[in-house]
Amino acid sequence: MIIAVDGPAAAGKGTLARGLAQRFELAYLDTGSLYRTVAARLIHLGHNYNNEEAANVASSLCQIDTNDPILRDEQTGVVASKIATFPKVREALRDYQRNFAFNPPNGALGSVLDGRDIGTTVCPDADVKFFVTASLEIRAERRAREIAANGQPENLKIVRAKLEERDARDMLRATAPLRPAPDAHLLDTTNLDIETALTEAESLILARMSRPNWP
Ligand code: C5P
Repeated sequence: MIIAVDGPAAAGKGTLARGLAQRFELAYLDTGSLYRTVAARLIHLGHNYNNEEAANVASSLCQIDTNDPILRDEQTGVVASKIATFPKVREALRDYQRNFAFNPPNGALGSVLDGRDIGTTVCPDADVKFFVTASLEIRAERRAREIAANGQPENLKIVRAKLEERDARDMLRATAPLRPAPDAHLLDTTNLDIETALTEAESLILARMSRPNWP
């Protein structure tokens, strides 16, 4: 069983994906952490990140520590979204993600992957797909609150502008751009709290499970 959760930054897809993984006892992969790990390594190595160098780092990725605070750094996020436009990086990370999806760790019977292109490119045959979105204003407010909670408050307008720039890069890149898969369920969390979104997503999965040809 593979569940794909895609959407722009700060739409709530991570919380939703983690909640679904817990509810259905599935392995969870935050695929943004892979791009962030590659970015953090390139920054650490002091490399000029180009397609080849970034692809070498991406293809040698084994273990990732999703709790490493460096991954949440602003600079790491910006570099992650830049190297995410490189086709060779995406190819290397796509293999990593598919391997996780088809061979979930710890004997889990399936997996939930969240990202930008899971339903369209990484796992186009995923059993259930969600595209989680929310207005730019609401996402900027949420992201600003997160940043403030980490002790480095930033002006809301700046947060909003950075999100807008990140969205544009993710949506306009040539390889695997951010967009909903045609068969994805759209979940707009602008006026929806996470609990309600989770309940809605759970019902959609249960409905799918009750139909014939469930894996
Ligand atoms: O989700 P997160 O903000 O941590 O991802 C960081 C960056 O990695 C995104 O802005 C995006 O450019 C890239 N990414 C991607 N495809 C994914 C996950 C993340 O291009 N599946």
